Amino acid sequence: MTEAGFNWRRREETLQALDEVYDVVIVGGGINGCGVALEAARRGISVLLLEKGDIGSGTSSRSSRLIHGGLRYLKQGHLKVVWEGSRERHWLRAHYPYLVRPIPFIIPFYEGEGEGPVMTFLGLWLYDLLSGFTNVRRHQRLSRDKVLSLEPMIRERGLQGGATYYDCLTDDFRLVLLNASLAADAGAQLLTYCRVEAPLLEGGRVVGVRFVDLMEGGTYRARGRVVVNTTGPWSDQVRSMVSPRERMLRPTKGIHLVIPREKVGNRNAVVVRSPRDERVLFVLPWDGYTIVGTTDTDYAGDPDDVRTEREDADYLIEAVNSTFPEAEVRMSDVVSAYAALRPLIREGGRTESEISRDYRILEEAPGMFSLLGGKLTTYRPSTRKLADIVLRTLDGRARSGPRRSHGFRELCEEHLVRLRNEAVRQARESGLDDEVAYHLLRSYGPSYTGVVELARDRSLKSRIVPGAPYIMAEVVNSVENEMALRLEDVLVRRTKVFYEDPSHGMDVADAIADVMAELIGWSEERRGRELSDYRSMVRSMEAVMEGS
Ligand SMILES: Cc1cc2nc3c(=O)[nH]c(=O)nc-3n(C[C@H](O)[C@H](O)[C@H](O)COP(=O)(O)OP(=O)(O)OC[C@H]3O[C@@H](n4cnc5c(N)ncnc54)[C@H](O)[C@@H]3O)c2cc1C
Repeated sequence: MTEAGFNWRRREETLQALDEVYDVVIVGGGINGCGVALEAARRGISVLLLEKGDIGSGTSSRSSRLIHGGLRYLKQGHLKVVWEGSRERHWLRAHYPYLVRPIPFIIPFYEGEGEGPVMTFLGLWLYDLLSGFTNVRRHQRLSRDKVLSLEPMIRERGLQGGATYYDCLTDDFRLVLLNASLAADAGAQLLTYCRVEAPLLEGGRVVGVRFVDLMEGGTYRARGRVVVNTTGPWSDQVRSMVSPRERMLRPTKGIHLVIPREKVGNRNAVVVRSPRDERVLFVLPWDGYTIVGTTDTDYAGDPDDVRTEREDADYLIEAVNSTFPEAEVRMSDVVSAYAALRPLIREGGRTESEISRDYRILEEAPGMFSLLGGKLTTYRPSTRKLADIVLRTLDGRARSGPRRSHGFRELCEEHLVRLRNEAVRQARESGLDDEVAYHLLRSYGPSYTGVVELARDRSLKSRIVPGAPYIMAEVVNSVENEMALRLEDVLVRRTKVFYEDPSHGMDVADAIADVMAELIGWSEERRGRELSDYRSMVRSMEAVMEGS
């Protein structure tokens, strides 16, 4: 196995060693692709994963960031989805408490709006029951005064009382990256910015794929005993490469808005309703920001072109203002927005919100499988099932186990508190403030020490932008240990400067490009290309904000 870390050097080594026949070639590096890579690699299966963008750059870094059973799926009778999601919430919280954190949700009851208290409490009882009462705490009834003391900025007119229940919030991208880097530790090779163009076929059997290296150019062939399609909303495109076939997906678009928290005034996660159609939406706390989401509308275009439209944003702003009337949020208050597609499986006679979030595994041709549908929360059951199928298809050619450990200790909450104190102590020793320490712990878990170590270098201690806790040491860490290849990989996903800084990182892009150029050895031409591509991203975001 290679000695290179999880970085561009290892990518080059992998590209040069493609004569190996892999047990499984995975197409798509979102939560499902990286989850299968980890499951397979831990069972001793040799893995090559090909992703046309950055790790998690598709849907999996643009979700509502909830690890949840999905209270609203109860109404549609999707009990299995809720049960499985609740079980996974419990597992993920127990294993990655720094990344999957419980938060209370407040449901306000307004006269004549929504399902009303009786139906809501029935749902909440069922929600607790389906989790086997493993949730952080059971739901509770709240008096009108209690709701107002918890959420003083909420609309008082018509307020009758409320309820509170728990789900978890995560950093979706970091959950994908965690799976990717654990898979890499277990021996999987992951090539980002490599787009699969066609399958390799021999006698009707899929025996690999042809792909293009989007960074340096060049077409390659990768041979695999099994090929797995985990391309989320792009799944039908990849399926049709094998032979023309019926579309299985009904992608629906969801957008989110990022707004300064002081503007909205929410303290907790709050369930709000659209005054237009009574759909349930979430107002979620994210450090100094509020994330509002999401919409759910049919989408028929190319998944690469999905973007926030002004009417989507107006719909969300209207819903926030209806529950937080004094906020008077306007488009000019929105710092950023993001859009993505739910890779839902077609079901006749249902509206967008009624379609099940369950997953399905299909055999497309001998040697090729697709994983369709699913949720971020339930990536483990779906990807483990697919890894089982891959193993059976290999028919004993691959070693079954021994399972490697996660490489992370299973942390209990008590341990997390100790770790947090330790993080603060170490960070203070390195001259970092407490806010940065908490951020590092929450993003990196036990690996935060590596970033703190880098920050002993004076020049890497400083914040990337004022007002957000990201520091320069994270740029170096992204490149050396987290497979960041492009400027946007660092500014959009490994840090969220793009979403959280009012100027979307434009003021620091040059400086970050300098650091990356030196580490990776970019030419002047490449550095210029990275900057101009990043500026175009920022301009498209600003166009949405300006409503053009
Ligand atoms: C608005 C919204 C909110 C959501 N909120 C939640 C939530 O709060 N909780 C939850 O549990 N779930 C949520 N979901 C669902 C969840 O985000 C998705 O189900 C999940 O992220 C899908 O993961 P995936 O790996 O299947 O797809 P993706 O993350 O989209 O990954 C597929 C990857 O395949 C790559 N790819 C495509 N074509 C090719 C090719 N030819 N060659 C190489 N690579 C290719 C893409 O670049 C992409 O990165 C939400 C979804 C949306 C849209």
